[in-house]
Amino acid sequence: MDFRLNDEQLALQAAARRYARERLTPLAAEIEKTGEPPTHALIREYAAQGFLGINVPERYGGLGLGNLEALIVLEEFGKISSAVAFPVFESCVGPVRAVERFASEALRQRVVPKVCSGELVVAVSMSEPQAGSALTDLTTRAVVRGDALVLDGTKRWCSGGDHADAYVVYCRMSDAPGAKGIGAVFVEKGTPGMTFGAQESLMGFRGVPSSDVFFDQCTVARDNIVVPAGGFRKLMEAFDLERCGNATMALAQASGSLEEVVGYVQEREQFGKPIIDFQAVQLRLAEMQIRVDAARLLIWRAASNAQDGLPSVLESSVAKCFANEIAREVCGHAVQLMGGYGYSKDYPVERRLRDAWGWGIAGGAIDIQKVNIASAMVGRRFDQRR
Ligand SMILES: Cc1cc2nc3c(=O)[nH]c(=O)nc-3n(C[C@H](O)[C@H](O)[C@H](O)COP(=O)(O)OP(=O)(O)OC[C@H]3O[C@@H](n4cnc5c(N)ncnc54)[C@H](O)[C@@H]3O)c2cc1C
Repeated sequence: MDFRLNDEQLALQAAARRYARERLTPLAAEIEKTGEPPTHALIREYAAQGFLGINVPERYGGLGLGNLEALIVLEEFGKISSAVAFPVFESCVGPVRAVERFASEALRQRVVPKVCSGELVVAVSMSEPQAGSALTDLTTRAVVRGDALVLDGTKRWCSGGDHADAYVVYCRMSDAPGAKGIGAVFVEKGTPGMTFGAQESLMGFRGVPSSDVFFDQCTVARDNIVVPAGGFRKLMEAFDLERCGNATMALAQASGSLEEVVGYVQEREQFGKPIIDFQAVQLRLAEMQIRVDAARLLIWRAASNAQDGLPSVLESSVAKCFANEIAREVCGHAVQLMGGYGYSKDYPVERRLRDAWGWGIAGGAIDIQKVNIASAMVGRRFDQRR
């Protein structure tokens, strides 16, 4: 077992860090003010720089590297902000991976290369007003009519809502109850019958648009099926990778804050000396470092053990749960250690605290991850309804 990155991985990390810091730091501050997500031109620039579809096979336009490489890049972008990192997240671990793994070859070829080149942004629409943690209660329907599929229903909290070019929509595709009737359909923005609600105003995640999505007799070709009814397990397998991406975004809020604070406490003087000279500050800093290192190792374990396949539900849930929890804690410590400056919107630390909180709800709440972990540990599912 070797915990060091190899030379290629170190070079990739350094390139991502340099680009993210130099090019994206001012854009992140601007996005925080306007709430406008990265433009298509910027996303195409990411592609040109080799930062999209890092772990997507080359035959679908990706770089053909591993999940670990993708997560290394994602952390460097995420340290700058969730918003500037979101296109990397979507292209490497997002819903496009379910298309790449499970859709027909024709749909894969239609969608995945365009995502890797930055021409197409694909979001996921799973949650509904009455189906959050209880996702399998979702009621949006897709009914087959000849060569077409007709969708009806309401989706909630769609990250990218009204901005993404296309959506992987979880829906009920047969009368089978619960998970058994659920599949997913690819729907492009602009399809008649698809509309969006107003943009949500969230605690954090500025620059990651969020809205309801409404389907009213929305008709797409039957070829747009990503997985048919009965494919929920496959969707959740792809989600094991998304979970590692979520964990990395949470980690990045913590590691980005930590990097900032290490410099700050050595410069800031009180009582005639740098505040790092106070033992309480030293202990706090050490606690932050321990948590960041541990979270990163859990994420890297899940990614490495999966080789280039999909991580296990146990390891990805452990990584997400831990990273989600420590991110809130570490970012909170960072705000405290920077005093009034930590609490000021002129510095990125308070933003990271707000974003860190969101990653522990998005992609499955922390306590739901814990249920997943216990379930994988004992090898049986716990029915939440009885
Ligand atoms: C920033 C952000 C981005 C998101 N992006 C997307 C997206 O792109 N696409 C999408 O489809 N959805 C998205 N979501 C929605 C997200 O998946 C849901 O918010 C999440 O699954 C929780 O569902 P809920 O909000 O309905 O909370 P609920 O299900 O109502 O849960 C609320 C709380 O109740 C507790 N709880 C509920 N059930 C249990 C249980 N069985 N055991 C123990 N505790 C329980 C937990 O503490 C939980 O936090 C996003 C959410 C956020 C905050």
